[in-house]
Order: sequence, then C-alpha cells, then structure tokens
Amino acid sequence: MNSTPQAVDWQASAKLLQPRQQLFIDGGFVPALAGATFDCISPVDGKVIAKVAAGDARDIDAAVISGRAAFNRGDWSRAKPAHRKQVLLRFAELLRAHCDELALTETLDMGKPIADSLAVDVPSSANCIQWYAEAVDKIYDEVAPTGNNALALITREPLGVVGAIVPWNFPMIMAAWKLGPILAAGNSIVLKPSEKSPLSALRMAELALEAGLPPGVFNVVTGFGHTAGKALASHMDVDGIAFTGSTPTGKLIMGYAAQSNLKRVSLECGGKSPNIVMADCRDVERAARAAAYAIFFNQGEMCSAGSRLVVHESLKDQMLEQIAKVGRELAPGDPLDPATRLGAIVDMQQMRRVLGYIDAGKQDGARLAFGGAQAREASGGCYIEPTAFDGVRPDMRIAREEIFGPVLATITFRDEAEAIAIANDTAYGLAAAVWTQDLDTAHRMARAIRAGMVYVNCYDADDITVPFGGFKQSGMGRDKSLHAFDKFTELKTTWIELQ
Ligand code: NAD
Repeated sequence: MNSTPQAVDWQASAKLLQPRQQLFIDGGFVPALAGATFDCISPVDGKVIAKVAAGDARDIDAAVISGRAAFNRGDWSRAKPAHRKQVLLRFAELLRAHCDELALTETLDMGKPIADSLAVDVPSSANCIQWYAEAVDKIYDEVAPTGNNALALITREPLGVVGAIVPWNFPMIMAAWKLGPILAAGNSIVLKPSEKSPLSALRMAELALEAGLPPGVFNVVTGFGHTAGKALASHMDVDGIAFTGSTPTGKLIMGYAAQSNLKRVSLECGGKSPNIVMADCRDVERAARAAAYAIFFNQGEMCSAGSRLVVHESLKDQMLEQIAKVGRELAPGDPLDPATRLGAIVDMQQMRRVLGYIDAGKQDGARLAFGGAQAREASGGCYIEPTAFDGVRPDMRIAREEIFGPVLATITFRDEAEAIAIANDTAYGLAAAVWTQDLDTAHRMARAIRAGMVYVNCYDADDITVPFGGFKQSGMGRDKSLHAFDKFTELKTTWIELQ
C-alpha cells in the first residue's frame, strides 16, 4: 500500500489475506493428527476467516518430541548467545517487515482497531523480541565468595522444553513476552495460543524459522484449552509452563503441573485494578482522560484495566462527567477503519458475559451513568458501548469480579485509609494507580497497595524494561525485564575444590 490505507483498503486486503491454519511442528505446517478443525470467526462481522487445526494431546506430544529433539541437538540451546542474538534480531525485523499483514490478522481475529494493531501490537512484539535478543550476550553469570580453596560457579541454564499458553486480548504481545526470554535463554517452546485468536502465532513461528531459528525450537499447537492446553500443562516431558489467562484457569494449570512432573509454573492472571483519585488531584481532566483509556482501551479487554474508579467523593461528579465525554468519543466503530478507537469484543460468548455483568450491576443497585448497550448489531459483529456505573459498593459483583470488557465501576471514599481499604479489598493484585500532587501521599499509598504495578499520576505506563505481573491471585512470576529470565532458567552451582 503506498498512501496511508483507509478502511476500504484494509477491507480489500482482508479479502486477500490467507491466514496459516495448520499446526506448526518441527519447522513445517501439518494438520492435526485427528484431522479436526474449528471455525475461526471474526468478531468484526461474524464471518468465518479460517478453519484452524484443533490440536489435541497427540499433537502436543509430537510438538514436545520435536522441541526436545531440538533442545538435545543443541543448535539453539548450546549456540553462542551472540548467535541467538543475531537470529532473534532478524526475527524482530521480519515482524516489523510484515507489520501490515500481522496487524490485519490480529484485527480480524480478535476485533481490536487496526490503528492499535499497527501502532501497538506489532511494534511492541518486535521490540520485545529485540530487547531480549540484545540482552542475551550481556548477562554474566556469578562466582560465589567462597574463599581461596574453592571456585564456586553459579550459572544459569535453559529449562529445556517450555510450554506457553496465552490469551486472546493481545495475542502477539502475550506470545512475545514469553517467546523473548524463553528463546533468548536457549529453550525450546511449544506455544498454545487461545482458540479465540490462533492466527498470528502461526505466522510468528513461520517468520522465526525464516529468521534462522532451527526447526523444532518454536512449535505452535492451536486448539482448545481443555484438550491441547491441558495436555501441554500435564505433559511429563515439559520442563516449565508459562501461562497468561484467567485466574480460574491458572489454578487448573498449577494442578496439572502438580499432578504430572512438577514442572516450573508461572502465572499471569486476572485483575480488578483500582484507579484511585485523591481529593488533591491537580488535573482532573487529565486524570479523567487516563481513567477512560484505562478501562476502554482494547475494549476493556486488559488484565491491568483500571476497572474500579476509586474516587474522592468531592471529585466524583466532575470525573464521571469528563469520563463520559471521552466515552462518547470512543463509540465502537469498524475495526478496519483507521479512525476507530474502540473495536469489537472478541466473540459472542465474551460479549454476552460482559452484557451479563451490566445487568448484574443494575440488579445489585448501581446506577448506570452512561453506555450499557450492545452496538453496531447490523454489522453481525460483537460490540458494546463504553459503559460506567456510579454508586457502586465494594461488595457488588461488578466491583469484585473481572468483567474483561469496557465497564467501569465507580466507588467513592472519604479519606486515605478508606481508599486503601477499598483498593486492597480484592482477590487480585495486578495494577493500581494513585492520582495526587502530594509526594508523601503518593509514596505512602504506593507502599500500602498490594499490587505488582502502581502508577502515580498516570495509568498503564509501560516499557519492556520493567517487570509486569501481580500479587495475590493475579499470579506468580513476572513477564518483561531481565527478571523474566528467572522463570525460564535453572540455577546451577558448580563447586571446584582447589588444591
Ligand atoms: P482463559 O483462562 O480462558 O484462557 C487462557 C488460555 O488458557 C487460552 O489459550 C485457553 O485455551 C487456555 N485454557 C483454557 N482452559 C484451559 C485448561 N483447562 N487447561 C489449559 N489451558 C486452558 O483466559 P482468556 O479469556 O483467554 O483471557 C483473559 C484472561 O487473561 C483475563 O483474566 C485476563 O486478566 C488475563 N490476562 C492476564 C494478563 C497478565 O499479564 N496478568 C495479560 C493478559 C490477560
């Protein structure tokens, strides 16, 4: 495309797109051994865009055998870090070179606006791969301070074959957060993308092979959670399982690991994050705009969404008024139109779930401040208006349960202690934000809040250099930053007695 593509251009490209739809095992595309497929339906318009292989336990087994053979061969696992760096840098470049195709795939598959897929999902995935590539030949191991009669080396080794199970809200980025450190450390990976968004992972694996990754190092098995996902997490020859998804599934994954081979488990799970606006917040308009994007960006399908607006009672009306203004700007539109800021909900099931929570809010006595309805029904796709509730009590379902849609619950408080109590009154602990102009308040609250990420006077500020993950039932272990290597390496002590 020469000039900036418009909706019609993307619609034309969508017709030409030929998504990969078979499993990617041992460096090639293969059908599921049982021959099963499932329909991949676009939430943009409800149409089938691919018939994707439905892998099961036998396909997982084939992928693990391939990953193990590659690991034992050593052409990746024992390759010099500088070599792994070069291959992964090429992989990142190929992702960038195929930005339009990958962005279109992502938008058609899970409904996010093409503007976001282009500006966020593809570049951020490529950046993640590049960052771990660049890191891997700059990390040194350790020598322990044992004294003169010994030399004790503390070294890191790859785990072996790592399974990664990821969700549908940022299919490429969630995969890249696993791929980057897993591959850079020298492991093999078997990736199981969500059945709701299986397409981009298959293309990523193909591009990684083109970049020079040896066959079998990166396998993709598409399929359902209770079949392919369970088989991967239960497999006796998988050394680690890296999961991103809901908390109930995360609990199952721990069980599978416990019941099989005690594989290493890391979990990035759900959230119900408080966005706290103190009475001294200096710029209410800015805080309101950030609060709106914190819950409406990516159709609210964000683990770290600021889904609870915890606001001082003196600022509540002003905040809600400003958030409603942004909400009106974010009316759902055609995801293939570059002007669209809010796209489709991933599928009918998720749309019904979100609408169910909107009903629950009304039943439990919260006041619908704006939105609340399905939108663009004539498109055949899945759309929901940006929605906010006022008068929410901390015990209501919309204040306690992760909705994973564009629905904001507004709760008021009178003083700092009450704000902290509300913020921490949750099973989750992923993210939180505090808006205040007082440095002492900011630090006090950041310390008091039980969450993996606390933002001050911003929301969802992000960079690959900082860890991402949660306290409590939001999971264990961290994605991003150098800390992610902890999950995908074993520590070894080699003690040499000196004569
Ligand atoms: P989900 O738990 O339904 O599915 C996630 C993945 O697990 C999918 O690939 C699915 O096929 C698989 N799966 C489902 N059941 C399984 C089973 N029994 N055994 C093995 N695998 C199984 O979650 P979702 O609806 O795809 O994603 C939304 C959730 O992901 C939200 O809770 C969100 O907060 C969370 N999430 C967390 C983070 C984070 O970094 N903390 C990031 C993004 C999304």
